[in-house]
Amino acid sequence: MSVIPAAGCGEQAARLMKLTKEYSMAVLHENQLILDRCPHCNVDMPTLVHIQHFRTTDYQGANRREWGVFKCSRCGSVITAATPKLGTEITEIYPSTVVIDDSIPARAKEYLKQALNSQTSPVGAVILSASAVDAMLKIKGYRDGSLYSRIDKAAADHVITPEMALWAHEIRLEANDQRHADEDAPLPEITDAKRAIEFALALGQFMFVLPARVQRGIVDAKGER
Ligand SMILES: [Zn+2]
Repeated sequence: MSVIPAAGCGEQAARLMKLTKEYSMAVLHENQLILDRCPHCNVDMPTLVHIQHFRTTDYQGANRREWGVFKCSRCGSVITAATPKLGTEITEIYPSTVVIDDSIPARAKEYLKQALNSQTSPVGAVILSASAVDAMLKIKGYRDGSLYSRIDKAAADHVITPEMALWAHEIRLEANDQRHADEDAPLPEITDAKRAIEFALALGQFMFVLPARVQRGIVDAKGER
C-alpha cells in the first residue's frame, strides 16, 4: 500500500509528526495516521490507512499545505490531515474528534463518552445517550416522569429552549423500547445513534458548557477592570 507523499519528501514523510493542542494524541507515521479514536466510528486505536497525498496553495501560491487522506479500516470513512510542511506538526484534521467538556457533570460525561465509543452498536449508543440526557435532567431537578415529559417540563421552565424540546421529539431517544425489548419497535440504526448522541451533546452544551463559559467570561471581565 501507499507510503506517504512521495513528492520530494521520502524520509521526512516517515518521521513522526507531532500534533498540537486538541490533536495532541494524533501523529502521522509512515503510511498511517495515528489517532486515539476514529472520528467517525470512534473505534479505539483505529487503523487509518494512507490513500492519497496532495499539496494545495491559495491563489497567490501562499498558504501551502500538504494533505494526507486516510481511510478507517473499520468503518471505511475518510479522514483528512494537513501540515504546512512535511515533517512538521499537523495543523488540521477533518473531521476533528469530539472532546466532551469538563463542565458536563461526571456521570453524564461518562455516559456520553461511552455512547460515542459505541456508535457501531446503535442500540447501546441510543440507551447511553438517553442515560446521559437523564443524568443531566436529574442534576437540574427533573427526576419524575418519562424522559420526554421531563424535557418538555425543562423547556416550559426555560431551562432549555422550546426548539430543543422539539428536537428531542424528532429523534429516537426513548430507551424503553430497547430495554423492554418491544418486538414491534424497529431496532435503532447508526443514524439514530448519531442523532441521539448529537442531541445529548447539544443538551450538555446548552445546560452546562455555555453557562460555565459565560461565568468564566464574567469573572475574567471583572478581573480586568
Ligand atoms: Zn472509523
